[in-house]
Amino acid sequence: MLVLGRTLGVMVDNVSRLGFETRAIHAGQEPDPRTGAVIVPIYATSTYAQDGVGGLREGGYEYSRTANPTRTALEECLAALEGGTYGLAFPSGMAAADVALRALCRPGDHVIIPHDAYGGTFRLVDKVLKHWGIEHTAVNLSDVDAARAAVRPNTKVIWCETPTNPLLSVADIAALSGIAHENDARLVVDNTFATPYLQLPLSLGADIVLHSTTKYLGGHSDVVGGALITSDSALREEFFFLRNAAGAAPGPFDAWLTLRGVKTLALRMNKHSDNAERVVEALLGHPKVDHVYYPGLPDNPGHEAAAKQMRRFGGMVSFTVKGGEQAALDVVARTEIFILGESLGGVESLIEHPGRMTHLSVAGSMLQVPDNLVRLSCGIEDGTDLVQDLLAALG
Ligand SMILES: *Cc1c(COP(=O)(O)O)cnc(C)c1O
Repeated sequence: MLVLGRTLGVMVDNVSRLGFETRAIHAGQEPDPRTGAVIVPIYATSTYAQDGVGGLREGGYEYSRTANPTRTALEECLAALEGGTYGLAFPSGMAAADVALRALCRPGDHVIIPHDAYGGTFRLVDKVLKHWGIEHTAVNLSDVDAARAAVRPNTKVIWCETPTNPLLSVADIAALSGIAHENDARLVVDNTFATPYLQLPLSLGADIVLHSTTKYLGGHSDVVGGALITSDSALREEFFFLRNAAGAAPGPFDAWLTLRGVKTLALRMNKHSDNAERVVEALLGHPKVDHVYYPGLPDNPGHEAAAKQMRRFGGMVSFTVKGGEQAALDVVARTEIFILGESLGGVESLIEHPGRMTHLSVAGSMLQVPDNLVRLSCGIEDGTDLVQDLLAALG
């Protein structure tokens, strides 16, 4: 039997009383009792010596597909940040989504997903899980009535992302959790864009939080990973069982890099948000810019819900360029500090054309995005440099 994590030190025992930044640095990460090492070691080991058959040592480690101490440290830290009881780390955000959906659904069950879901999530539901008899409906989840109307007797999961990618629409987490629970379904919130520093879905009634830790949590564009966080012990057991049974176990090097990134999450999210606000201000009213998408803008349809459930509005900004697709392609080709590339959430600023890049596979579907759309992941460089780079690229 695996014990749930290591014995926690006194301070970390009362972890929920501590501030966010303190939890990011200390939860799950007390100095190594034997050597005093301040940083959790990379436990590069596949197996563990037993003191006699079945005599597992402290922590109950047996085999690293099942559990590994570096991974446990990351899991305890992520749970503490989301205000949840249990964290589980995965080798990618998609591996976490796969385990969540297969644990929650059986053939004949139904899932509600956002009409502008992350493309990989849509593909998992639409191209993979449907062959195992799991049905889905794609709905605009910023419309609470549309969400309620989509519920069927066999609905087991409402899957929510907020803010969404790339149009940054906002769903009301508390309202969706009410709909899910009235119907004996579970609410999963993909909190990748907001991070626990800006938004705490479990406190708003969500049952499960999902992360692509590849993005802001890792924060340095150097590691791919995912996580599930919940306070429901039965759900934790099912996720843990399926991860171990099907093998989606992240390695200790990746867990360590992610944990290293998480320590500075609060500082980074404030700077990402500062820079996004500077960029939004520069884009608004610019003669070449058509529309700016940012949840912090009062005219954004999701602004009210965002202001209710988010601390700040994050580092992602999208905008449409006057002059159509070619004008947008010209802008993304001309920036010098914003690097042309997919992904998001790293310290460096990234720019992309969703229609030809991240969202190419959804062309022609209901997830299609405007062809003159540009998406920015504002990094933590000097804000003035970022604004000047964009203004120069706009010409
Ligand atoms: C990137 C991303 C995922 C998938 O995560 P991977 O780590 O790339 O597998 C899921 N949801 C959102 C919102 C993402 O941005």
